[in-house]
Amino acid sequence: MGKRTALVTGATRGIGKVCAQVLASAGYRVILAARSAQKLEEISADMRQNGAETFVIEVDLSSHQSIGAGFSKASKEFGRIDILVNNAGIAKDGLAVRMKQADWEVVLQTNLSGSFYATQQVLPGMMRERWGRVVNITSVVGEMGNPGQANYVASKAGLIGLTKSLAQEVGSRNITVNAVAPGFIGTDMTVGLSNELMQKMISNTPLRRMGTPEDVASAVKFLVSEEAGFITGHVLDVNGGIYM
Ligand code: NAP
Repeated sequence: MGKRTALVTGATRGIGKVCAQVLASAGYRVILAARSAQKLEEISADMRQNGAETFVIEVDLSSHQSIGAGFSKASKEFGRIDILVNNAGIAKDGLAVRMKQADWEVVLQTNLSGSFYATQQVLPGMMRERWGRVVNITSVVGEMGNPGQANYVASKAGLIGLTKSLAQEVGSRNITVNAVAPGFIGTDMTVGLSNELMQKMISNTPLRRMGTPEDVASAVKFLVSEEAGFITGHVLDVNGGIYM
């Protein structure tokens, strides 16, 4: 068997970037996907310098058309995709009563519909091959709820339902579908939080720290491995114990 190919969405920074790096170090060929082609090329070039085999596709996960175009380019040029990490995600926070339709829609489109359409692109190849791994990056708030994040939480809870349904649909083809639910992780997404809120989060976390992108990437690396082949439909919390 040759090298397996993993596609990671949202690979320009934060959790997705580290997932791409960790999977490359573990010996996978890695396709990096996001909107900013230039950033992707920079990261890909760095990874290649360290001996990784990488490719990039520019794709906007909020657009069905862009997903179709990006993924068909990826499979035409780089062959079959064995592993998909649906990591790209955005937040547009606000109280539900005043939430703008555009903010509701773009978050659902990117986080939930984008992950679904991306998965649809890779499933036929995985089914033919009778091997595949899909990992959806959800969130602790998708399990708990969170005021001020109705759109984001709905998208992340939706991903958990999607994970379990797909796991049941494609299990007979030896494809596993799992979710990773991070708690508070130090990335651009959380850099804007007030110091006060950050301290509160940390004191509510039994492990008394924020998580790192590496913490999340380790869980992803495990779930896509051969060794995790009997785990499907699972939501793996990487949250320092803030929710159990
Ligand atoms: P981040 O630093 O903000 O990075 C988000 C990534 O998603 C970027 O690479 C961005 O690239 C990409 N992206 C955003 N919109 C996109 C679109 N329309 N099409 C394609 N790519 C898009 O976020 P992060 O903190 O690493 O989070 C990664 C995932 O973990 C997200 O799903 C997030 O919800 C989840 N998560 C994060 C935390 C946390 O505390 N940080 C906690 C729980 C869950 P471009 O801008 O170049 O497109």
